[in-house]
Amino acid sequence: MADQSEQANEGRLIALVTGANQGIGLEIAKALSANGYLVLVGSRNFGNGEAAAQRIGENAYPVQLDVTDPTSISEAAERVGDEFGRLDLLVNNAAIAHTGKPDQTLEEVTRSGLASVASLDEMRAVWETNVFGVLAVTQAMLPYLRKSGAGRIVNVSSGVGSLTLNADPSFPYRRFFSAVYPASKTALNAITLALALELEGENIKVNAASPGFTATALNNFQGTDSIEVGSRNPIRVALELDGPTGTFTGPDGPLPW
Ligand code: NAP
Repeated sequence: MADQSEQANEGRLIALVTGANQGIGLEIAKALSANGYLVLVGSRNFGNGEAAAQRIGENAYPVQLDVTDPTSISEAAERVGDEFGRLDLLVNNAAIAHTGKPDQTLEEVTRSGLASVASLDEMRAVWETNVFGVLAVTQAMLPYLRKSGAGRIVNVSSGVGSLTLNADPSFPYRRFFSAVYPASKTALNAITLALALELEGENIKVNAASPGFTATALNNFQGTDSIEVGSRNPIRVALELDGPTGTFTGPDGPLPW
């Protein structure tokens, strides 16, 4: 496996996508592979990652990665270091919307996440994945992103985390703003900008990219975009070698923080 990777590694950019076994993460991993990247398909369940990597093709390798598990994160980082010695692109895609029953509607999730009634345990669990998990994975991968010489980090965020949009009475998704998932994306945006500012001098670009409102397990398939359409913006940002740093974009262009 290591030898195969070393051969395949020749001249290829190396990417790690978290939560790449399904949904938008899988679509991003497919697009990276189609564009010649060697893709590490992060999945908290290794078997699901193996199946996804097989679907993607020969440039894809599964890696067990639970973003809330420090041992899993350090083992994944060790593997990146041992097998590739560098990482050119990290896509922090893994996220959860809630910790309740999987088939809850968006309306139910929104109601239980309202700031006046939100379970602090649920909020901690969601932020553990969507915010602290992103920072933990990023910190573990930074030594290898630094070795790239032109490392890039894409944090898959959401327009529903924009404070500016939610403060505007005409924003159609405003009624979905709550303390659990949407506010976790607000916090993710803050971390994205903090990393972008800190790493600017080291030529590591850090951007937040929102998909469209996409039919995935995250929203009980209530999203209105197909996976192919909804994933376009994160894919565009992930493939952009000469783009800017410190941006937050969605399907229709720049989003306000
Ligand atoms: P999804 O189909 O539910 O995919 C989420 C992925 O994250 C799954 O692979 C899931 O793994 C993984 N994950 C969850 N917890 C994890 C953990 N602790 N460690 C590692 N992986 C974990 O949802 P999606 O819509 O594709 O979401 C992808 C990204 O897009 C998320 O950041 C989400 O916030 C963002 N987003 C989505 C939409 C939308 O409309 N769908 C809109 C804006 C932003 P399992 O398969 O094991 O559960």
